[in-house]
Amino acid sequence: MIPYSHQSIDETDLEAVTNVLRGEWLTQGPHIEEFENSLASYTQAKFAVAFANGTAALHAAAAVAGLGPGDTVITSPLSFVASANCGRYVGASVNFADIDPKTLNLDPGTLPECDGLIAVHFAGLPLDLSRLQFQPRVIIEDAAHALGAITPDGPVGNCAHSHMCVFSFHPVKTITTGEGGAVTTNSEEFAEGLRRFRNHGIVRKPEEGGWFYEVATAGFNMRITDLQAALGTNQLKRADSFVARRNHLAEKYRDLLSGTGLVLPPGAQAGWVHARHLYPVQAPHRREVYDGLRNKGIGAQVHYIPIYRHPLYREGNDPSRFPHTEAAYARLLSLPLFPDMTDEQQRYVGDALISLLK
Ligand SMILES: *Cc1c(COP(=O)(O)O)cnc(C)c1O
Repeated sequence: MIPYSHQSIDETDLEAVTNVLRGEWLTQGPHIEEFENSLASYTQAKFAVAFANGTAALHAAAAVAGLGPGDTVITSPLSFVASANCGRYVGASVNFADIDPKTLNLDPGTLPECDGLIAVHFAGLPLDLSRLQFQPRVIIEDAAHALGAITPDGPVGNCAHSHMCVFSFHPVKTITTGEGGAVTTNSEEFAEGLRRFRNHGIVRKPEEGGWFYEVATAGFNMRITDLQAALGTNQLKRADSFVARRNHLAEKYRDLLSGTGLVLPPGAQAGWVHARHLYPVQAPHRREVYDGLRNKGIGAQVHYIPIYRHPLYREGNDPSRFPHTEAAYARLLSLPLFPDMTDEQQRYVGDALISLLK
């Protein structure tokens, strides 16, 4: 099966991980800080705090930003359910706004009033936060798709228009640590809060003795391991080449599939870099095309079942309120796209799709 995405692991990754296994620390070692420093430097943020996964990072960001009961959080319905669940975890109520059919992101010009925005960069195309008509108290970017994307205000992750930016390092994302995630921010206070939240709420007080710590808030164990962090640091060195290869494959898809009647995903405007996490086309008879591709060994996927369609979020969210999301969901199909995908594999996918659309 040609998967819709796949990690890219080379010998240097193997070496990075086995070196940690031969050393002193498996968790809480020096590679975590090294990874955080590399990520802060890559995204041009002041701070990066690594987490066990992107979902934990979203949870921590929502909590540390002070979102809670009585607050309303808005996110894109065309996203993974974690974008909404982080609001639920902290007791906020979660609402959705319809997407802009051109970008498949939220429309920054028509954002309804809310206390918190979880801004999803769908497929790796950044949501233009400089165009927000309304400034929520808290803006958190869900950049799980967008490591390596760039806007005219700099790399996604520099928090030019947000308080915090969240990444995931799941194997399908730009870089991987197995499971893993991170939050970037320019606020020292948020960075400290994030470190505390991921480590049981522990605050050390060495002036009271080397052993001494206090817990004033109920944190979690959301720590990443040193093994994962070493892999992440090494992967991050190749992030730009991964994104370049993804963009190259996306351009090839455009050539292969123009004239097929498929709606192809939007590109980045001049001055922007798309991270191309997904290549979501919109196909007529999506069910038949999906099954046909799967029968030919092509692991196409659907991103996403709109979040309001899940039982957890159905109440008060009739699908008719989201006509653009509904229209997109009826046809969306993500084609395989990952750095190690060969030109031959891509031609096979293109040919299979063309024959199915005939
Ligand atoms: C992958 C993903 C997440 C969650 O990340 P995990 O590391 O899998 O927990 C959150 N939001 C979006 C949009 C994602 O694609």
